[in-house]
Amino acid sequence: MLTPSIYIQGKGAIYYLGQKAFPLGDKAFVVGGTTALQVAGEHVKKSLVSNGIEVVGWNDKVKECTHAAINRLAEEGKHTKAHFVVGVGGGRAIDTAKAAAWKLKVPVISVGTQCASNADGSAESVVYTEDHKFLEVLALPRNPVMVIEDTDVIAKAPPKYLVWGMGDALACKFEGEAYAKTRMMKQDLEIPPAAALALGDACFRSLMEHGQKAITDLKNGNHSVDVDDVIEAVKLASAMAFENTGCALAHALHNGLTRTGQIKGEHGEIVAYCTIVQMVYEKRPADEIRGVVAWCEKIGLPTKLKMLGEPSKAALRMASDYAADKDANSRNMPGKMKPSEILEAIDKVERGI
Ligand SMILES: [Zn+2]
Repeated sequence: MLTPSIYIQGKGAIYYLGQKAFPLGDKAFVVGGTTALQVAGEHVKKSLVSNGIEVVGWNDKVKECTHAAINRLAEEGKHTKAHFVVGVGGGRAIDTAKAAAWKLKVPVISVGTQCASNADGSAESVVYTEDHKFLEVLALPRNPVMVIEDTDVIAKAPPKYLVWGMGDALACKFEGEAYAKTRMMKQDLEIPPAAALALGDACFRSLMEHGQKAITDLKNGNHSVDVDDVIEAVKLASAMAFENTGCALAHALHNGLTRTGQIKGEHGEIVAYCTIVQMVYEKRPADEIRGVVAWCEKIGLPTKLKMLGEPSKAALRMASDYAADKDANSRNMPGKMKPSEILEAIDKVERGI
């Protein structure tokens, strides 16, 4: 079971950063996006410095997780002689920080500043091209040692980030279950722990129960318990569920669609739509699928392709071919996937369930 050693969530949680990071050394390299460090940078610095940790490097220019950005940061980090890296921001900044720390052979701490991504605790970095086309997933040998989710900071980010985060987190139960089924059939060494599946299930229940209220509350400037519950479902439960199971059709199709260059929308929006496609592909009960579609509509997640730029028939064929065969997650669905069946599932989603 891969997990970070420490997960701290709550109002003002950044306060604990320096205190808990102290055993890692006394030289920190802080990296993040410009907005993230404008919002949380001072708190991060204060927490480190007040615990005797010197900030030896500071890069607030991380925009996209590309190989070039990872190499640039690793090079910069080498000169600072930092004992550990602190990645601050959303998925792109944190994935870049994790990969740079791996190149530097030092531990990394994640400080999330918004909830669009569940990358903070995982031992993976998703690498994109400069124009944000999916390239590959780097499997890192270790998780970040610590994850800090300051809910004061996250609740002040635009509510759309939480919507996107929920869209991505929606997939973890269904992909995890498909993955487990596949591994059980193959009886290979990757049969996931029951704990990971339980987390996927807990995440799903929390999203269904608290998701809509959390968004309404955030839009009204009300930082309620539901907001915190959803942050935990995305940042902890979904992250540890997917980390210890695997992605399947939903992410494979997402990756295929983004490669066509004809799909618009954020990662979580595309993944939410692709999760509905996976549910149809798996022939799950219509009531279960309708429940998820209704929830997506209430939350503001896309349930039809026209909300995602309406890719052409040829693009859908290309994406389905890729998802069935070429994507690394293709092997995680039970049985050999057929592009024609993926296209049929898409068609059914478009026509209505
Ligand atoms: Zn994802």
